[in-house]
Amino acid sequence: MDATLIEPRWTERDARSLGRSRPSRVQAEEAVRTLIGWAGDDPEREGLLDTPARVVRAYEEWFAGYEEDPAQLLDRCFEEIAGYDEMVLLRDIRFESHCEHHMAPIIGRAHIGYLPNRRVVGISKLARLVQAWAKRLQIQERMTAEIADTLDRVLKPHGVGVVIEASHECMTTRGVHNCGVSMTTSRMLGAFRERPETRQEFLSAIRRAHSNAEPGL
Ligand SMILES: [Zn+2]
Repeated sequence: MDATLIEPRWTERDARSLGRSRPSRVQAEEAVRTLIGWAGDDPEREGLLDTPARVVRAYEEWFAGYEEDPAQLLDRCFEEIAGYDEMVLLRDIRFESHCEHHMAPIIGRAHIGYLPNRRVVGISKLARLVQAWAKRLQIQERMTAEIADTLDRVLKPHGVGVVIEASHECMTTRGVHNCGVSMTTSRMLGAFRERPETRQEFLSAIRRAHSNAEPGL
């Protein structure tokens, strides 16, 4: 599937309206008890007594992205610079997300490049942008588009490229058990889409990083 065809679905407004109808912690823990019973175990068994509370706390971390406004994250932090017109590149940003079809982990790395048009952001902000979109229920294609589009909207650069490589545990641990399979998605905007040499510079920089990276991803 071509990631460039997918429009971001989650907006900051969606995240907030989701917050208003949020179930209580007690309801969430009760839901975990129900799933434990459905799996075939006894939620009142001693080893499982604290599990619902732990799972709900884990959810707070795994889905912390709903509490973030990705655009605002960058908006408060860019710096106006003049004269720097080379590509800014951040490789191998590790992330953990969850697929929206099975709520199973998606674990991978994102690579981001952009050609600044006066505005730049710090490296840590790019990494936080990835986390803000990753820590939600996702599909990889949409997440790729959302990261690129947020950068494009806030920094208004000459171009943006985002490549994501990830393995999906819903594929490796169930169904056909496709172990070791990883999926690559990309979104190229502006000069990254229109100028083959810009896209090539970005892609070969990622590949260079790869020859040093651990095998598998
Ligand atoms: Zn899945």
